[in-house]
Amino acid sequence: MKKVDKIWMDGKLVNWDDARIHVLTHTLHYGLGVFEGIRCYLCHDGTSAVFRLTEHIDRLFDSAAIGMMTIPFSKEDLCTAVLETLRVNKLKEAYIRPIAFISDGEMGLYVSNYPVRVAIACWPWGAYLGEEGLAMGIRAKISSFTRHHVNVGMTKAKICGNYVNSILAKREVISAGYDEAILLDTEGYISEASGENIFIVKDGELKTTPPTSILKGITRDAIMEIARDTGILVAEQRFSRDELYIADECFFTGTAAEVTPVREVDDRTIGAGKPGPITKQLQTNFFAAAHGKIEKYKKWLTCL
Ligand SMILES: *Cc1c(COP(=O)(O)O)cnc(C)c1O
Repeated sequence: MKKVDKIWMDGKLVNWDDARIHVLTHTLHYGLGVFEGIRCYLCHDGTSAVFRLTEHIDRLFDSAAIGMMTIPFSKEDLCTAVLETLRVNKLKEAYIRPIAFISDGEMGLYVSNYPVRVAIACWPWGAYLGEEGLAMGIRAKISSFTRHHVNVGMTKAKICGNYVNSILAKREVISAGYDEAILLDTEGYISEASGENIFIVKDGELKTTPPTSILKGITRDAIMEIARDTGILVAEQRFSRDELYIADECFFTGTAAEVTPVREVDDRTIGAGKPGPITKQLQTNFFAAAHGKIEKYKKWLTCL
């Protein structure tokens, strides 16, 4: 990870190396913390803009509400803090990681007070699944680990502890030689990838998992809107793994992974084994929107 100068912590900018916490931090032990992943892109006119900042901060507060955590800042405070952290580090393009966590002071699952602290870090981060993956597509495998049952994991929240499931799934398929894990829901339907939502294309129409066992991605939402604006039909509908095997195209969406084509699932070639035409069109439009090249989608950008 490329270090930068400052990290925002509890309302102040501190040096990267000084952004430390105590080893008895409650979240470190039990996993109740919430976070976000946001990206800032360099626009064609030389300015920089954060992609869907308010939606990400809204979701951070939703995650906190699900986790019964009270964030001691307003949404406006945190939006301003994200912009300030980018500016002070002179970052034109970056990945941004806000996290709200329970501090130290008491131990045990039930504590009388859950003191919430907030930090925002940002650093330069390229394509999460690799530049080659973005261009040529990746190889995915369905993990033997199941996505959280909706009454276990609270999948609508980006809760720290939920990601143990994702890490186990990802490590399993990477050691088997694949690039990314796909998880099934507890009823056996396709849910999502370890940190990305999934789309398939069949006969020119787009399908994605409904927001049941998945984290409702903001990139997923952007892709659905871009697709509908281009006249592509989008269905939010459950599908099975065999439907995925015979799809014409498949891709993942997420802030980190952006729009990554999938060329193979479980050793079966998807479509022509390379990014399909609809995937490529949506990927191109997504990047154009994020880089401020499409007037209609400038509503998604907050300039630095
Ligand atoms: C963050 C995340 C996504 C993608 O959400 P975006 O808002 O597009 O970044 C998808 N699935 C999981 C499990 C995630 O944690």
